[in-house]
Amino acid sequence: MEHQNCRCELLAQSPLGHVTACPGCGQVHLTLQHMTLRFEVDAFRAMAAMLEQALCRMDHTMPATLPEEQRAGRSVH
Ligand SMILES: [Zn+2]
Repeated sequence: MEHQNCRCELLAQSPLGHVTACPGCGQVHLTLQHMTLRFEVDAFRAMAAMLEQALCRMDHTMPATLPEEQRAGRSVH
């Protein structure tokens, strides 16, 4: 299916960029600054899980980089 004819839904937004999902062609688009990465749904899910794991390990490896409220022991990890 041609993506041009699809209507993407905004899933999330941040100062870095945004994520949209396209029900029509089953793609998830991650837009950062000047680039857009396109994922199949399963690939995006796998990437999100990988980032979650990386974030958790990063927080253990570099606790000094944690936001103050998480250093206080209210981390969700
Ligand atoms: Zn599409």
